[in-house]
Amino acid sequence: MAKIPRILLIYTGGTIGMVKDFKTGALRNFNFDKLLKHIPELHQLNCTIDSVSLENPIDSSNMNIGNWVIISEIIEDNYKKFDGFVVLHGSDTMSYTASAMSFMFENLSKPIIFTGSQLPIGDLRTDAKENLITSIEIASAQENGNPVISEVCLYFEYKLYRANRTTKVNAEHFEAFTSPNFPPIGESGVHLKFNKQLIHKSTLNKQLKVRKELNNNVVILKIFPGITKTVVKSILCSKGLKGVILETYGSGNAPTENWFIYLLEEALKKGIQIVNVTQCIGGGVIMGHYETSITLEKIGVISGNDITTESALAKLMYLLGENIEKNKFKTFFETSLRGEISVAE
Ligand code: ASP
Repeated sequence: MAKIPRILLIYTGGTIGMVKDFKTGALRNFNFDKLLKHIPELHQLNCTIDSVSLENPIDSSNMNIGNWVIISEIIEDNYKKFDGFVVLHGSDTMSYTASAMSFMFENLSKPIIFTGSQLPIGDLRTDAKENLITSIEIASAQENGNPVISEVCLYFEYKLYRANRTTKVNAEHFEAFTSPNFPPIGESGVHLKFNKQLIHKSTLNKQLKVRKELNNNVVILKIFPGITKTVVKSILCSKGLKGVILETYGSGNAPTENWFIYLLEEALKKGIQIVNVTQCIGGGVIMGHYETSITLEKIGVISGNDITTESALAKLMYLLGENIEKNKFKTFFETSLRGEISVAE
């Protein structure tokens, strides 16, 4: 008889477990044990569920790399004991945390599913129950005794996405996330369907490595018409800066003014890594496609291709933390490490 999967539910905070403060009307975190009492249906699932909560659950606006390490350690410490992990997280920064986890867990062979909700679990019209129940079902899904999913995913409103391809696009709709450059890898309807060709192949025979040395001496610099030399200079000359995600226009285009290129060149000379990503919601960077990106390519700016800003930031922190040799950094970044960009793996 097949073994019943064991799932670990990790509560980090977010709307899913919040209640309304009757005095202020604002949403605040409440006791996680009560969260489970709101969903007796969980007992009907064909798995066993253990749960653990961050000591102080947080609104995900307060997430930082310290919390990422804590979450990764909870999973690492319980990796052998459980078959799958479901992380309950605020939706605001879920794509950042989930992208970071995808880089932090190398040779993952079990599912880590992030989910949350737009309405608290106690709310009459909540989206939390479906998101939570289906995430647990996904984390427990097995085929021939092996997990169907062996990567970091994000499940929200009937869609299962590769986590490092997602971005939050709506603060109102239940369909809060999208994966602009990679199709959903699963969908929940009458049946729970997986898009098997898109799912990452498990690395069962390789040893799990958890990479926790993240370097957050980075910045996202979103350019805009009228951006001043003073602003760009003060950002690129920030003390200790190691990496920049440069959010450019369209397919990677930026101002060609001399002062702008000069400041980028000076930063590159100092060893600061600069990654070009697009401000557009879909598509990616093709440096050299327009005259306004040729110079960026020439001076050694890294192409982020079709990576999301969230994933680019997480990848930058991860690779900087790994102390990759300066001359190999560009190649590493432009290579798909966890299926985060559309290039040959
Ligand atoms: N502010 C909340 C958070 O990100 C929103 C949510 O949970 O959806 O923690």
